[in-house]
Amino acid sequence: MRTSDPDIYAVGDAAEYAYGPTGGRMRVPLAGPANKTGRLAGEHAATGASRPAPAARGTSIVRVFEKVAGITGLSMRAALKAGLDVRAVHVTANHHAGYFPGAEEILFKLVYENGTGRVLGAQAVGGPGVDKRLDVISTLTHFNGTVHDLAQLDLAYAPPFGSAKDPVHMAAFAAENDLDGLARLLQPDVDLTPFQVVDVRDPDEVLELRLVGAPHAKRIPLNEPAPGSGSWIRRCLPWFHAIRGSGRMSARGF
Ligand SMILES: Cc1cc2nc3c(=O)[nH]c(=O)nc-3n(C[C@H](O)[C@H](O)[C@H](O)COP(=O)(O)OP(=O)(O)OC[C@H]3O[C@@H](n4cnc5c(N)ncnc54)[C@H](O)[C@@H]3O)c2cc1C
Repeated sequence: MRTSDPDIYAVGDAAEYAYGPTGGRMRVPLAGPANKTGRLAGEHAATGASRPAPAARGTSIVRVFEKVAGITGLSMRAALKAGLDVRAVHVTANHHAGYFPGAEEILFKLVYENGTGRVLGAQAVGGPGVDKRLDVISTLTHFNGTVHDLAQLDLAYAPPFGSAKDPVHMAAFAAENDLDGLARLLQPDVDLTPFQVVDVRDPDEVLELRLVGAPHAKRIPLNEPAPGSGSWIRRCLPWFHAIRGSGRMSARGF
């Protein structure tokens, strides 16, 4: 934070920070890093105590009417730009137990390093509880946590506040399945043309949301028998139907 003039410190919007997920440097014009580095600079000026500026993660959040969206760390695009070998998982889950009144869905994306499972960042859209999930991931990445660490985190749970398997746990479980090869994931923007897509959704879900990019998809609702041979992709909303369908087909040798 010290500049070429020892009496002048560079902090806040005017300064560059070490950027946690990549180790590079970048501007992070947010109040959190500004306040933390301001405190460190003030402490050094007053007492001489010297501590390095914390790495920033760009954790930020916005509310637009009733919708909340936020990010911490690297997006998939930023991670690829930084040359990292990354994967991402998307889950939708309620912000607290579904049977407790007022549950709202969170769409949660977790970005992690291929192989090591190191968590690099997350993005979330929803209503209440988006902030909590982003803060969990920010804390995890501060300590270089992996998807396996995330899957084991002991988080506060009672029905009005969360679920025994929180959305961040569900994302970690899916990421572990992906890394372990139990249920390899494709990204939503993948070209589906070379694959045989199996739409396992219930009829009402099919009416609710049109399947884009897969006019050749075969409709095989979950409760019907698995299809013949070939290369298949399971696709659905909510995503856990796909996991169930995938497991059922794997068990039958696909
Ligand atoms: C509308 C708005 C909403 C925001 N909301 C959020 C948010 O929700 N969350 C978040 O994390 N960040 C938010 N930010 C960003 C956050 O406010 C900044 O990142 C943070 O204030 C930067 O702190 P700073 O100390 O670097 O600069 P500042 O807070 O801008 O402080 C700079 C100070 O220097 C003074 N100054 C300027 N020139 C001189 C001079 N020549 N001599 C003496 N004094 C001078 C200014 O008057 C000012 O008081 C928001 C910013 C804006 C504008």
